[in-house]
Amino acid sequence: MDASSKKVPIKTVARVRPCSDGTNLQSSLIIDSKNSIITVKSRNKEFPLDNVFDENATQEKIYDTIAQPIVDEVLGGKNGTIFAYGQTGSGKTYTMNGNKVNGKNRGIIVRSVESIFEYLNARLKKDLQFKFSIKCSYIEVYKKRAFDLLQTDGAAVEIQSSGEKIIIEGAAEFVVTSVDGCLRHFQNGWNNRKTASTSMNRESSRSHAIFMLTLVTEEINGTFVNLRTSRLNFVDLAGSENQKHTKNTGERLKEAGCINQDLFFLLNIIRDLGYAKNGAFIPYRNCSLTHLLRDSLGGNSIAAVIVTIHSNLEFVNDTISTLMFAENCK
Ligand code: ADP
Ligand code: MG
Repeated sequence: MDASSKKVPIKTVARVRPCSDGTNLQSSLIIDSKNSIITVKSRNKEFPLDNVFDENATQEKIYDTIAQPIVDEVLGGKNGTIFAYGQTGSGKTYTMNGNKVNGKNRGIIVRSVESIFEYLNARLKKDLQFKFSIKCSYIEVYKKRAFDLLQTDGAAVEIQSSGEKIIIEGAAEFVVTSVDGCLRHFQNGWNNRKTASTSMNRESSRSHAIFMLTLVTEEINGTFVNLRTSRLNFVDLAGSENQKHTKNTGERLKEAGCINQDLFFLLNIIRDLGYAKNGAFIPYRNCSLTHLLRDSLGGNSIAAVIVTIHSNLEFVNDTISTLMFAENCK
């Protein structure tokens, strides 16, 4: 299928994390960043993607190549979503959040917030008729239920549809007027996710975390007011590791079932979005994750799926299934 028949532009990219023991002797992969191909040596299988980043790729490089083009589209009025998919420990949270909200290892979210405010404030200076407002929310989806990461008690929230619009009943949505203000909420939510994982027994690697920015801009042309709303979602997905190999029982097994189902629905929805099909029924409401993203996926939107992988031989099976997810998104 040629690119022109695509409904929603979706980029799939892989990021290989540095080996945890600092060596690369046991690498299972051939990483060809120039041609954007990863080869799994033992299977002699090639995975051609839109971009491939090896372990030396900096946070800045990932942001500039993958996230900035999406931020630009969102500033132009589209909805954008960036997903991080991969097994636990492969670098999803590092890619999205970084290891802190400042310094050179800050992740995609912080850099996006900086870029959005920089652009909008510059417009504001040039054009006295221009106005904007930004709101943020941060939701965690765990075992089919949604929780608000911006409330310290991690309140459960309900995802509801009202026509085309999605309402997260009970979720805090904060108006933010500066980078620092926005990042304070983001950091609170990030801390709450960590706390919830211990105090409420919601293991963070078993939940999806979705940070959402809603932008409203207002331009006045003569007597005509042009009001535009767009949304940018950052989705740090639950670990995709194959649960068959871990001897999970009870609650952990239930979690695994939910995650597998969510990731399966998500894949189907991404595939449906990518290819123009007339009147295809997209089962968004099948799970909280896709329901939550419904009004920002599809239609006037753009997305990127970043799959994060290990190059170590010991993780080769999960690496293959992660690369297959990326391949199937196409
Ligand atoms: P995940 O969210 O996929 O479970 P993390 O992002 O928490 O994984 O990564 C696990 C550990 O590896 C963290 O300590 C993180 O800082 C580190 N790490 C992951 N990817 C990279 C990378 N590209 N460069 C440096 N450190 C990384
Ligand atoms: Mg994580």
